[in-house]
Amino acid sequence: MTQTYFRRGFGLKAEVKPAIDAEYQSAVVERIRSRGFVDRFGDVKVRLAKDFGFCYGVDRAVDYAYETRHKFPDKRVYLVGEIIHNPHVNYRLQEMGIEFIYPNDGVFDFGHVTSEDVVIIPAFGVTVKDMKALQALGCILVDTTCGSVLLVWKRVKNYARDGFTAVIHGKHLHEESRATASQVEKHEGGKYLVVRDMSEAELVGAYMTGRAQRMSRDAFMNHFAGRTSEGFDPDADLAKIGVANQTTMLATESLAIGARLREMMAESLGDEHAETHFRSFGTICSATQERQDAVLEMMQDPPDMMIVLGGYNSSNTNHLAHLCRQYVTTYHIEDATCIDVDVGSIRHKPEIDAEAPVAVEMEWLPPAPFELGITAGASTPNNKIGEALLRILEIRGIEADL
Ligand code: SF4
Repeated sequence: MTQTYFRRGFGLKAEVKPAIDAEYQSAVVERIRSRGFVDRFGDVKVRLAKDFGFCYGVDRAVDYAYETRHKFPDKRVYLVGEIIHNPHVNYRLQEMGIEFIYPNDGVFDFGHVTSEDVVIIPAFGVTVKDMKALQALGCILVDTTCGSVLLVWKRVKNYARDGFTAVIHGKHLHEESRATASQVEKHEGGKYLVVRDMSEAELVGAYMTGRAQRMSRDAFMNHFAGRTSEGFDPDADLAKIGVANQTTMLATESLAIGARLREMMAESLGDEHAETHFRSFGTICSATQERQDAVLEMMQDPPDMMIVLGGYNSSNTNHLAHLCRQYVTTYHIEDATCIDVDVGSIRHKPEIDAEAPVAVEMEWLPPAPFELGITAGASTPNNKIGEALLRILEIRGIEADL
């Protein structure tokens, strides 16, 4: 039988490497890295976080997408959603003739895909329902779902198998959280609930333990509308819970949410009860953790200002920027075009919310000499970091000698 499902690439790494390196590498970033992540350009000291940019999952997904194009030059190649949350990488793939299937109200329409086509599944994965629909089409599937995401899926499936409701710390519209939540469908009666932050975890904990100030059933269901599995009943389905999270959330918040829910259960129903009715497993991926840790390490001796690069809808980038803002003036920019060399301005998103309006600042560079910290989310290629840095230096009249 002809193989139609691939999740280990096509052995064409060497063939696509030159193109990937040429498109995503940066000489200035390599120079800073080779000098111990600290470098000086004129009167600007640049400090690069020790872990930044493309993670292993993104590296792999981009690699497979290029390999797929190389392997099937004459076939129609589709991508479900975006390969990663970076507009430039997505744009490059489109330029290579890969067609993106965007969801409509969260629903993908595969009506135009035929068994002759190739479909790439992004690093975030797809829902159980979408996977079944694609398999039924008989097309070639190139699955780039990250191993760290698969690990979370396994946890959630086990929760469902054992009768625990998966309480997922994440953004319910994010591709990864939707795919993760859908894993409960693999076991009959599997349930999930997605919580956005600690304040929502408190609502869940209060309801779960029957606290006096808990919401009414209707208010609870209204509040979490669209964020639970079908037929979710908070009176029955919060008896046993297992905590998981979108891999790119703030690690400290995910851990705190798990700990708080267990604490509330133990306070109300006893520690023994919590032992058997509560499960948790840290499912932040190591790449997200390392990027957050690298920023925290830098913040022990903060630079004068921080630039965080990455898509405004990139969860891990938003969390990196949020962490930095606790310590130092931080500008979350999408790419170098946010820095206008002619007028000297910067356009940035000043809040963690992906939809928050952008702001434009004129007097944003500190007086010289100053220290500039830089990091980037897991979906930002190095060339985008380098371009932004060169523009900042240009505003200060510094030409990097590379
Ligand atoms: S952020 Fe983590 S889970 Fe997501 S693609 Fe990268 S390594 Fe995988």
